Amino acid sequence: MSAATPLQPQPLAAWGLGLHQPLMIAGPCSAESEAQVLAAATGIAATGAAQVLRAGLWKPRTRPGAFEGMGVVALPWLAQAKALTGLLTMVEVATAEHVEAALKGGVDMLWVGARTTPNPFSVQEIADALRGVDVPVFVKNPINPDLQLWIGALERLHRSGLRRLGAIHRGFSWFERTPFRNSPMWEFPIRLKAAFPELVLLGDPSHISGSRDRIGAVAQQALDLGFSGLMVEVHSDPANARSDADQQLTPADYGRLVGSLIFRQALPTAGMRDRLEELRDLIDQLDEEIAQKLAARMDIAARIGDHKRQHHVAILQPERWERIMERQLELAAHLGLGADFVREYMDAVHRESIRRQTIEEPEPEAGAPAGSQASAGDGAGQ
Ligand code: PEP
Ligand code: MN
Repeated sequence: MSAATPLQPQPLAAWGLGLHQPLMIAGPCSAESEAQVLAAATGIAATGAAQVLRAGLWKPRTRPGAFEGMGVVALPWLAQAKALTGLLTMVEVATAEHVEAALKGGVDMLWVGARTTPNPFSVQEIADALRGVDVPVFVKNPINPDLQLWIGALERLHRSGLRRLGAIHRGFSWFERTPFRNSPMWEFPIRLKAAFPELVLLGDPSHISGSRDRIGAVAQQALDLGFSGLMVEVHSDPANARSDADQQLTPADYGRLVGSLIFRQALPTAGMRDRLEELRDLIDQLDEEIAQKLAARMDIAARIGDHKRQHHVAILQPERWERIMERQLELAAHLGLGADFVREYMDAVHRESIRRQTIEEPEPEAGAPAGSQASAGDGAGQ
């Protein structure tokens, strides 16, 4: 990180406002009417499973014409909900105007949305509007998987003097089909947490899942990875919600969801599980996933070998390998992996693939120098 002032966010315990871990935030995607906000707020308060009520007042929509939020008229509804239930309130801000209105309206906390985080001009405008204002602000990950953009947005707010800073992981847009609305790509929040262990990191299983049925599993995974809490979309009448209808829970379902989750023990600072141990667990988990995927890949390579033999097709097909490598290097650039590393790694994978494709008979024993198949590197074994 090159910024002059290193990010030093305050731990949640120092935030005040009665906030504590796990920090649970619930509320509708959008504030739609006074009755809807109050119904959601009282329903959520009755579960006893949230500290903060969220609601979107200004909705960033992909296409014009969709419901774009009620704007400032909804601010008194949130104030009323707070007076009625004691829940703190939180809204999304994308411009200086939103910041001013929200603060004037007595909102307790703010968040920057996933479509705003990637734009340094917008984030800077928000940061400037917040200079000298001590309010908790959460930054959602940018829609594209770019850790530096996420950190950069936090740094801009930090430079404005904000210290009660948090991050929200809501998943990433990805060009490949995944079972999620937004691919979780857990390695990004894990890397953020590894870089800034004190940063309050929340999971947003609603926007990752995109559908009600997956929310529980995603929420549990976030908690298992040591997240500080969750932000969940809760609506009094999800089927008729004006935005994100498929992913909102009723207050009662939210209560049941929270009841079914396994929360790690609240960690007192002194007896806290060693951070190194926690990070090593994460590494072990990732290494296991990588090994399983590699084994599956090699099994498929072996099957391709059989097929090629049956049809008298050459094992080595250089154009195919070039395409694979090109795609991997493109991915590497997206993910911030070094090109040399990826080249070496893929060459090793390729060597092993060719070995698996060519061992119809028992494989040649040790003695052949490791990498003796490197000459196959200009061909494709898949
Ligand atoms: C939201 O929280 O309703 C929202 C718009 O989320 P995101 O910015 O993550 O898409
Ligand atoms: Mn939403």
